[in-house]
Amino acid sequence: MQNTGHPAGSWYRATVDTPPVRPRLEGDVTVEVGIVGGGFTGLGAALELAAKGIRVAVLEGADMGSGASGRNGGQIHTGQRIDPETLATQLGADAARQLWDMAEDAKTHLHGLVAQHGIDCDLRPGLIHAWHKPRFADDDQAYADFVRRQYGYDKVSLLDAAEVATELGTDVYHGGLFDRGGGHLHPLKLALGMARAAETAGAILFEHSNVSRIEAAESGPILHTAHGRLRCNTVLLCGNGYMEGLDDTVDACVMPINNFILVTEPLNDPAILPRDVAAADSRFVVNYWRKTPDNRLLFGGGENYTPWFPKDIAGMVRRNMLKIYPQLSDVAVTHAWGGTLAITLSRAPFVRRLSRNVVVSAGYSGQGVVLAPYFGKLLERAITGDDRDIELLSRLPAPAFFGGRLLRWPAMVAGLSYYALRDRL
Ligand SMILES: Cc1cc2nc3c(=O)[nH]c(=O)nc-3n(C[C@H](O)[C@H](O)[C@H](O)COP(=O)(O)OP(=O)(O)OC[C@H]3O[C@@H](n4cnc5c(N)ncnc54)[C@H](O)[C@@H]3O)c2cc1C
Repeated sequence: MQNTGHPAGSWYRATVDTPPVRPRLEGDVTVEVGIVGGGFTGLGAALELAAKGIRVAVLEGADMGSGASGRNGGQIHTGQRIDPETLATQLGADAARQLWDMAEDAKTHLHGLVAQHGIDCDLRPGLIHAWHKPRFADDDQAYADFVRRQYGYDKVSLLDAAEVATELGTDVYHGGLFDRGGGHLHPLKLALGMARAAETAGAILFEHSNVSRIEAAESGPILHTAHGRLRCNTVLLCGNGYMEGLDDTVDACVMPINNFILVTEPLNDPAILPRDVAAADSRFVVNYWRKTPDNRLLFGGGENYTPWFPKDIAGMVRRNMLKIYPQLSDVAVTHAWGGTLAITLSRAPFVRRLSRNVVVSAGYSGQGVVLAPYFGKLLERAITGDDRDIELLSRLPAPAFFGGRLLRWPAMVAGLSYYALRDRL
């Protein structure tokens, strides 16, 4: 999946100061750690490694934060993507607890990053999970009971249909779950702030330096780009949904998919999200939305599973938005763009030591705003001798997609399209 840089139609891009242009890798450079990818994961790792005095360089194929990290919905979710009860069944109560604690640490880490490095990224609290079918009430009730009882997490409460209608400004939902520990932010401001902080700590950031291959030389891995070579002791693969072709195992287990967002002109409707929280619904192809500080609606909904984006992204997402907010039929869409994220078959992140000196962290399956910056920190811990988190994460099931490298696309398109269809039933 090619990343050509910050998408032209992005409201995020239109609302940040022009970032500095970083050099591309030229000739031979030697560092201790070479990182592929300048998103939340790669920048998070670079920041932590540099802060420890480790010589580290990031190779980014386009510009910093121009992948999913600078294009996403900015929604802050609680926990792992797999619900804690399922994790407890799969891995046992202790491991599930550790994974829950890890995700809560990730939230604390995110808030710490923002505070410590003075990253002004419009961070706001609160997220509502709205039920498009009544049957989701039971799931969320069970979830709320479980996390309260097992983990003492008391920031969730159930809302009935009338309360959700008041919170969201639409009566299409049957109720929902309010999570005071969730929230939202401007992801490109966060990514660019992390890049700045990593540089200040001493990391070297290269842009327009696509890694075409990894050579396993005797002296250590060498990352090859069109104009240079980065020699290192350890490689961190942090290219997520844009990284196809560098490692066969990653390609087999991590699948890129595209998701789309629009932004409207400023709204005159105070009934929509009066408390400025984020919202997401229970559909398989999830709709998610929130307001921007200048009172626009930022709405994400719709995905595709091809290497191409649809021609009319705005039209496609607007159709989904109008099913929830028909009152916005006269409101103009001012921005629309797409991005590529990475999923795994199980929806667990794919974090693995692929060899003694190559580690990957990818496939957050739509939950990377909180997890990815923190997983960068876990990569740093693994490199500096503490493999415990990586070992725990390696126990999460992330099997290869059906059909192998060549046939996984048609197999997955068929599978995902089936679930997308179920949303409408
Ligand atoms: C439209 C959209 C909406 C989303 N909404 C949310 C949300 O609301 N909440 C949430 O939690 N998550 C959301 N996500 C997912 C979230 O954005 C990702 O999980 C997260 O940003 C992953 O960060 P990353 O650093 O691993 O990957 P990325 O940010 O994608 O960064 C990877 C970088 O690696 C670079 N790269 C790849 N291969 C190479 C190579 N060979 N050489 C050099 N560079 C390379 C790419 O150019 C890219 O910049 C969304 C994603 C999308 C696309």
